[in-house]
Amino acid sequence: MILFEEALEIISKYAVPLASEKIRLEDCLRRVLATDIFSDMDMPPFDKSAVDGYACRRNDLEKELVVLETIPAGKIPTKIIGNGECSKLMTGGMLPEGTDTVIMVEDVEITGPETIRFKGDRTAENFCKKAEDIKCGEKVLDKGTLIRPQEIAILASVGCANPEVYRQPRIGIISTGDELVEPSEIPALSQIRNSNAWQLMAQAQMANCIATYFGIARDTEKETLEIIQQAGADSDIVILTGGISAGDFDFVPAVIQQAGYQIKFRSLAVQPGKPVIFATREKQYLVALPGNPVSSFVQFEMLVKHLIRLITGNSGQKMHLKIPIGVDYKRRNKTRKGFFPVYLNSDGMAMPVDYHGSAHIHSYIHANGIAAIEIGENEISKGTLVDVRLI
Ligand code: AMP
Ligand code: MG
Repeated sequence: MILFEEALEIISKYAVPLASEKIRLEDCLRRVLATDIFSDMDMPPFDKSAVDGYACRRNDLEKELVVLETIPAGKIPTKIIGNGECSKLMTGGMLPEGTDTVIMVEDVEITGPETIRFKGDRTAENFCKKAEDIKCGEKVLDKGTLIRPQEIAILASVGCANPEVYRQPRIGIISTGDELVEPSEIPALSQIRNSNAWQLMAQAQMANCIATYFGIARDTEKETLEIIQQAGADSDIVILTGGISAGDFDFVPAVIQQAGYQIKFRSLAVQPGKPVIFATREKQYLVALPGNPVSSFVQFEMLVKHLIRLITGNSGQKMHLKIPIGVDYKRRNKTRKGFFPVYLNSDGMAMPVDYHGSAHIHSYIHANGIAAIEIGENEISKGTLVDVRLI
């Protein structure tokens, strides 16, 4: 049995980033940049008005000013502004030469058909200076950045219409167990519905992977091997649930090896999710998770997401936050690192939700975080900071 932290290190050691591809800007939400991105221009590219108003010289604020022209956004000014002169300018419009201030229309009195006067007592400059946000050639985004809407805005503004991103991982999902029937069926006595596969499909999709479901392998070596080989043919990561605890029909570890994967670890000091197998085959990975729904859910979040981040080159954003726990928390066993469901309330406290163990997936309906308690600890007092993974 190895520590959870050792498991993360082993995964890091074997995870190799996927190839990259150029895709359209409109398709790149939640993908990860495979190159640094540089700006091809200054931003703003010219001194740009932040208000509707009149561009003039600060020294002239006391004077009546002659209006030379009106400059809409997107037009180049045609007149240079001299003493006692100004031009009317729209928000986003380019400042004419000779000016250093834009006075807002609200602060202006029209004194004649072509004259105005500033009626405020003072004014800001009211324009954005050329290149004040970004200089031409400057790095604007780092390789390894997860692309969110705000990164899309940057890519768009620097003209990166076809960003190079890491390929999406292909994940093949398999359930195992003679007792399982699919959700559309009515289980006979002694059967249950297969919930793990659908939950894992959804988790993989939320992690922006391409998820494919390969069905339920009945508890025979032959069927399990066949389905692993099918799933492994075209998946970067095969995820299997069930069949890896020490039950009579749990021959999965042997079959994983027959399929050509090498097992790198097979038991973790965690609860839930102790029997977890991580195996590799060239640049392919297989993770076998316990059949208990909470175990598979939590260890996907903890281990599989770590693997996904690494193979998609995602170098950003912390996976967990330190949050104060809202009540005293106790547990019986302290020999393994524990994970338990919490709800982050509006006061910023992590509140443990009612949880009866690894079969109780229903508890996670009320949770928006997974909190951790370390080996050797069986009590956390109210107010202590705990590691919480948001889900
Ligand atoms: P196993 O890891 O195969 O020993 O399964 C542990 C427990 O999880 C058993 O109660 C199984 O019935 C249950 N289980 C296994 N696979 C699934 C699944 N795909 N969906 C829901 N429960 C499952
Ligand atoms: Mg089973």
